[in-house]
Amino acid sequence: MPDSHLQTIVCCLGQPVAGNPTQFMIERAFRAARLDWRYLTLEVSPENLAAAVAGMRALGFKGGNITIPHKVAVIEHLDGLSQAAELMGAVNCINREGDRLLGENTDGKGFVQSLKEQIDPQGKRVVLFGAGGAARAIAVELGLSGVEHITLVNRTEQRGQELVDLLNQKVEVRADLTIWDGDYQIPEETDVVINATSIGLGDPDARLPVDTTTLTSEMVVADVVFNPPQTQFLTESANQGCRTIDGLGMLVNQGVIGFHVWTAIDADAAVMREALEEYLEL
Ligand code: NDP
Repeated sequence: MPDSHLQTIVCCLGQPVAGNPTQFMIERAFRAARLDWRYLTLEVSPENLAAAVAGMRALGFKGGNITIPHKVAVIEHLDGLSQAAELMGAVNCINREGDRLLGENTDGKGFVQSLKEQIDPQGKRVVLFGAGGAARAIAVELGLSGVEHITLVNRTEQRGQELVDLLNQKVEVRADLTIWDGDYQIPEETDVVINATSIGLGDPDARLPVDTTTLTSEMVVADVVFNPPQTQFLTESANQGCRTIDGLGMLVNQGVIGFHVWTAIDADAAVMREALEEYLEL
């Protein structure tokens, strides 16, 4: 244990939550690392965000996570951003360095770390479903990791086009948009297929509109949905012989990265995954 009896606190500022898997996972990791730290989940309304960040400063919090709906709005209250957070225009992790609060985005990094356990993203061709916060974080990090091309498939054109423009113009990765209409056929030269929509969240039978017979065994297929982690899309992809990656890996890895940002210690990912599985009753 550290010699000071004062507890170091990190926090999660966000919308009302019934429970927080990240809190459960991070507190377990603090204990495993023998750190007498706490991770608090704090409900903050949009009109109180400025005061909440000022409170983090005043109370000496070491940092925290930021969740919906504050990931964009928090930026104006911070003192600086990482390259990824700046490109994404969204922050999900804050680190205190001296008196400065710095914004980071660990969602995409967590995903890329999971992907690298299966395949090196450098030079690969990716099909990415979705254009929301998770897709944006993943697409930017994949671009920074040197993928060759991203085909973004999204239902709503405007949201999809905004992300494709960001990728082409600021991240400098080649990307184009396909409007999702009916079952999508995966192009045969694709290396990596990612569901970054919320289809499958809370519903193991939800079907992603994809012609899964166009998946081949050379493709790696990932799903960001972590509850339940075994989505119908992953089951069908495994049946086609694909290597699959579930959303729990991304959640664990973004936790490991956040843990390191705050503590400069490498967390035990296995302990964190076990905690998550316990929390989600898997
Ligand atoms: P958003 O609401 O920002 O985006 C949702 C995306 O899903 C949009 O692109 C939306 O399309 C698309 N979508 C939703 N329903 C449908 C549908 N029926 N048909 C076609 N497209 C649909 O959500 P987030 O990006 O924040 O989250 C997405 C998922 O990622 C959630 O399940 C979340 O739990 C998960 N997540 C997992 C993380 C992890 O660590 N594993 C981390 C962060 C998120 P449109 O633009 O057309 O509306």
